[in-house]
Amino acid sequence: MSNLDGKIAWVTGAGSGIGRATAIALAKQGASVVLGDINPAGIEETAGLCGDVNTLSLMQDVTSEETWAHGTDRIETRFGRLDILVNNAGIMIAQPFEEAPVDILRRQQRINVESVYIGMQTALPLMRRTIAAGAKGASIINIASIYGMVAGAQFSAYSATKDAVRALSRAVAYELAKTGIRVNCVLPGPVQTNLGADWEPPRDAAGAPISPEVALAAWAAMIPMGRLGEAQDIAPLVAFLASDAAAFITGAEFVADGGYTAS
Ligand code: NAP
Repeated sequence: MSNLDGKIAWVTGAGSGIGRATAIALAKQGASVVLGDINPAGIEETAGLCGDVNTLSLMQDVTSEETWAHGTDRIETRFGRLDILVNNAGIMIAQPFEEAPVDILRRQQRINVESVYIGMQTALPLMRRTIAAGAKGASIINIASIYGMVAGAQFSAYSATKDAVRALSRAVAYELAKTGIRVNCVLPGPVQTNLGADWEPPRDAAGAPISPEVALAAWAAMIPMGRLGEAQDIAPLVAFLASDAAAFITGAEFVADGGYTAS
């Protein structure tokens, strides 16, 4: 028997990167996985990689309360329960603080923070019913970032949103502690994914765009382990927090960053 046999897991941003690797890891451990994303092709590719488990594909914009409510209805109809929610969808826009309009903050705030708030609130009634029906507990895992903990070049707005995810997770974990619903946060360091790829590249001191190769090499050089993370470095940690083996863990934070924040 695997750790997550019989559990139903909802992963947002499952069409790419850390969300995809997480969905695959949860599926490998026996969970049925609900794949939410705004990118239908990405969701279908992830579903194909999840192997021989039940998946449900959800076109879901995490900023929309309607798509959260619709997703919950579909999960209840199809599975009748929800054990795990991974609030993973997010964006990162890097821009020097002096030049970054407040809209950069507002956009990231909606996708990175409001989504987590709406998602936890929408999922709670179904998680409570799942526990009332006999489940040992339920688990929410919110993906923050080490840049919610330490500063990074040109990440002021992103950092503000990721620190907010940490505070929100702790507060909700505290309030829900007696319900059996656990809330924890994962803080990845730099991981090689598509994050930030759609946006204008960061600029050097002279204002010239920094190519992705140069930016990635610079990040790798800052990591004591000497390499960037991979999505597969993060997914097993999420799978552990989702499992009953983590039954006494709530309101906690787990850093996976190759030693970046150790010094
Ligand atoms: P990614 O490869 O870009 O994956 C993010 C996924 O979320 C994409 O499929 C994206 O769709 C989707 N998405 C974006 N906006 C959405 C919305 N409004 N509703 C639903 N889905 C949406 O990035 P990732 O690196 O895996 O990031 C996953 C999480 O890890 C994020 O919260 C990020 O902040 C966090 N994180 C990443 C790193 C890193 O270095 N990569 C480090 C620390 C924390 P599209 O592709 O269509 O935009």
